Amino acid sequence: MSSPNVLEVEHLCVDYVSAQGLVHVVDDVSMQLRRGEVHGLVGESGCGKSTLARSLLRVLGPPAVISRGSVKLEGDDLMAMSASQLDQVRWVRMAIVFQGAIDALNPVLKIEEQLIDALAAHGLGDRAQAHDKAAKLVDRVSLPRRVLTSYPHELSGGMRQRVVIAMALALGPQVLLMDEPTTALDVVVQAEILDELDRLRRDMGFSVLLVSHDLPLMLERCDRISVMYAGRIVESGPVADFREKAHALGHPYAKHLLDSFPKLDGPRTIGRGLPGSPPSLFSPPPGCRFHPRCPSVMPICSKEQPVLTPLGVDHLAACHLNTTPQ
Ligand code: SF4
Repeated sequence: MSSPNVLEVEHLCVDYVSAQGLVHVVDDVSMQLRRGEVHGLVGESGCGKSTLARSLLRVLGPPAVISRGSVKLEGDDLMAMSASQLDQVRWVRMAIVFQGAIDALNPVLKIEEQLIDALAAHGLGDRAQAHDKAAKLVDRVSLPRRVLTSYPHELSGGMRQRVVIAMALALGPQVLLMDEPTTALDVVVQAEILDELDRLRRDMGFSVLLVSHDLPLMLERCDRISVMYAGRIVESGPVADFREKAHALGHPYAKHLLDSFPKLDGPRTIGRGLPGSPPSLFSPPPGCRFHPRCPSVMPICSKEQPVLTPLGVDHLAACHLNTTPQ
């Protein structure tokens, strides 16, 4: 029987080399992406989630260094691949969509030229065939054909992001990494694009790793969620568990992240922000990295690093509250 996981990450570490030494931005992260699921990777800015997502496809340049770990796509370890082997994976089997579509598109080329260039780079037929394919790609993401003859600056932010999604899906990848793909868009356009993505995912069967700082959005759009804090995954589980058990179980950071967003239904409550800020990754606190901000901190928390332990079916959290008798 084939594995339920399309992507398996084991003990991944990513460092940034700086004049002050190494900064461990992703620290021993293990996670799985199931076939056909949307997996949310959530956390405050600077927690390492974008670095993690980009390292999966090895698109990070210096000063980032992947210092340890494996990333297996259908069993093939991307970390062990040569540059030419990786070329057969990027776009073909795994693609990425970045936050700023305007930065991902060439400002002096019409959209059609950019789509054709990308298709030609992967040997997808002659120019006439690539032209037909480019037209089908804009149809696929519900854009009008006039987009093909437009320059990026002539399109709205939402249209540009749809173009980038069309490019990413051009070769039918099994995995789509989406790094804050709708953060720069207004909420209406954001919802339209995420609805479109959901339709495409059901039609094409790819899996999505969706990176965002917006936990309520993740609860609405994902099947499972992993919460990152200071370079580590501190909680991971099915979205239903986060909705139903967020105030009874789990990691205090995830609970506070949820509490810091206003709710649209139920009784009116005063939002509670999370005091303090994430630690510097140059010198993170010992033990649990959340302990200087945690309202439930215990003596053990500053001494021992908690490990991910099961809280329920498919639900893990790294917190001493779950393993220390109260
Ligand atoms: Fe808070 Fe301790 Fe749990 Fe860390 S391990 S989240 S400091 S209770």
